Amino acid sequence: MLLRKAGESVNFRFMKHIVMGTAGHVDHGKTALIKRLTGVDTDRLKEEKERGITIELGFASLSLPGGKILGVVDVPGHERFVKNMVAGAAGIDLVAMVIAADEGVMPQTREHLHICTLLGIRKGVVVLTKTDLVDGEWLDLVREDVRAFLKGTFLEASPIVPVSALTGAGFAELLSTIERTAGEVEEGADIGLFRLPVDRVFTMKGFGTVVTGTLTSGKVATGEEVEISPLGLRTRVRGIQVHNRTVETAEAGQRTAINLQGTDRAVIERGYLLVGPGALTPSQRLDCTYRHLTVAGRKLKNRTLVRLHTGTSEIMARVILLDRDELESGGDGFAQLVLEAPLAAVAGDRFVVRSYSPVTTIGGGVIIDPLPTKHKRSSAVVLREFKLLAEGGDAEKAAVILERAGIGGITENLLIVRTGIPGRELRRLLEGMFSAKRAVLVDRDEMRVLSAPVYEDFQAAIARELQGYHERYPLKGGLSREELRTTLGMGDGVGQKIFTMALRDLEKKGELIAEKEMIRLAGHRVRLQGEMGSLRESLSAIYREGALAPPTVREILERFPDRQKEITSLFQVMTHEGELIRISEDLNFHRDSLAKLRDEYRQLLVREGEATPASFKELTGLSRKFIIPLMEYFDMTKLTMRAGDHRILRERQEK
Ligand code: GDP
Ligand code: MG
Repeated sequence: MLLRKAGESVNFRFMKHIVMGTAGHVDHGKTALIKRLTGVDTDRLKEEKERGITIELGFASLSLPGGKILGVVDVPGHERFVKNMVAGAAGIDLVAMVIAADEGVMPQTREHLHICTLLGIRKGVVVLTKTDLVDGEWLDLVREDVRAFLKGTFLEASPIVPVSALTGAGFAELLSTIERTAGEVEEGADIGLFRLPVDRVFTMKGFGTVVTGTLTSGKVATGEEVEISPLGLRTRVRGIQVHNRTVETAEAGQRTAINLQGTDRAVIERGYLLVGPGALTPSQRLDCTYRHLTVAGRKLKNRTLVRLHTGTSEIMARVILLDRDELESGGDGFAQLVLEAPLAAVAGDRFVVRSYSPVTTIGGGVIIDPLPTKHKRSSAVVLREFKLLAEGGDAEKAAVILERAGIGGITENLLIVRTGIPGRELRRLLEGMFSAKRAVLVDRDEMRVLSAPVYEDFQAAIARELQGYHERYPLKGGLSREELRTTLGMGDGVGQKIFTMALRDLEKKGELIAEKEMIRLAGHRVRLQGEMGSLRESLSAIYREGALAPPTVREILERFPDRQKEITSLFQVMTHEGELIRISEDLNFHRDSLAKLRDEYRQLLVREGEATPASFKELTGLSRKFIIPLMEYFDMTKLTMRAGDHRILRERQEK
């Protein structure tokens, strides 16, 4: 079934499986209503029977005239058990707001309405019960009252149906109204990950441990492995029941009972989740939008300790207000919740906050990043990110989470959890980001993705690191790949992969040069500054003046007794650059002197056909100390070759 409004291209589907929950003040007839509708007395505890009051959640199935079966959750109305009510309301799509005609709107009518609103419930039927106790005139008054009360809420336009559980009056109309309203429930975005917040745990003779809950998303099949979150414990599904019937699979929106293999009942409690193995990561920080209810009555101060309810869990948490020091009642703000125990959540999950004492509902909101780091308060960058996560489109949300993931990138699965964008839509979005160069694919196997701005910053950091290194060590040609990697804090595995990728990209852009294991900036020349520069000039002068009879290396070192290290480095730099030519352990010559000698020596060889130590001595006027190494040098550099005890021109021979 598709519905399309004129000019609207987005399709929405009606939900397949629906859970209806009750809401309303204690003693207003919720349990009696469900019993009349389904035949099930949901007050099954001994204490509930004795006190005539609902404490725990009750469960039933409602067969509608058209054949559809609704899951039903009956919640307690008493002030003391609102905690259980919130857990029950977490999985419902449709609320039966029960108001007794003789009493009208009462405190928990209001509180439950707030909770349903905060949890994002969009549809409901208002049931005026106990009509047998009032006359027609009174009923009209109450109906008017209730309408006024609902004004501006999600139930504003909902049907109001008067009934009596005692006489059965109004139940035919109620049933058809529920059926019609159930048909209007729209399907939310299912992110596809299997999630079942546990609302009950019990042992069944012959079966062992059974947990129940409403499947938030995804599906589960008999035999599959599941994880108990946040324990991280893995187990297998032994059997599944939906509406009291054994089934092979259960889907999103179904009230489900799951028999777990070999799991001790004592390890599981309400509030835990069954999830796909490794699919969700528990965290003790949640970024969220927060609305402080007008009924809260007083301001919410930064760091207030509250009771956080999400899914079926209740966890103590501190509210860190990021954009202010206190929030007025009726106000909206950005907050990070710091939890006393870890919780696996998904972006888009809603929550309710109750004050520590007295215990009343004071606010709630939407989780916009379930795995954030600690933030600086009042930081413009942080607040900008919150705004995008809270109000932006899918592309903006994905960009923020990618940026938050940093240089390690993030897998597609985790991106689904942290943005709440369903897999197929996210894949399409990512492909677009790749071609627009706003994201970089690191690994196709695990679909690891990296934010392009973060990647560019990282490349700039590499260049900066190299620049700094060249400045600190002007005499070194570069630094080793490994040293650079550790300095930048890139670990093994993913870190190594991204580091290698960045080096390759920088090399392609011509910004750096990698020679074997050495990395340097493309523009880097060994440059000498200050004292090193003048030392170099002195050395240069010594060799120019020394011409073909320069001092030995040892003699020069003796001349600069407290500059040994610098002189040794300078010899390296100057020979590396070619200004000095090293012809033996102890002898260097200036490049220009050797070039001049080479010309004269060649002319001699051309003229005379050969050369001997004697004719070389005549040419240069040098002593044996220089003659032998120099003649050998010219052999080595292939100007000459030995022929017996004399040299001939090799260049000519080779022509
Ligand atoms: P809950 O706390 O909202 O679940 O209320 P219950 O369903 O337990 O009902 C509270 C009391 O009201 C019980 O004694 C019921 O028998 C009684 N009650 C419930 N519905 C009706 C009704 O339609 N008419 C009359 N006269 N009594 C009702
Ligand atoms: Mg009840």
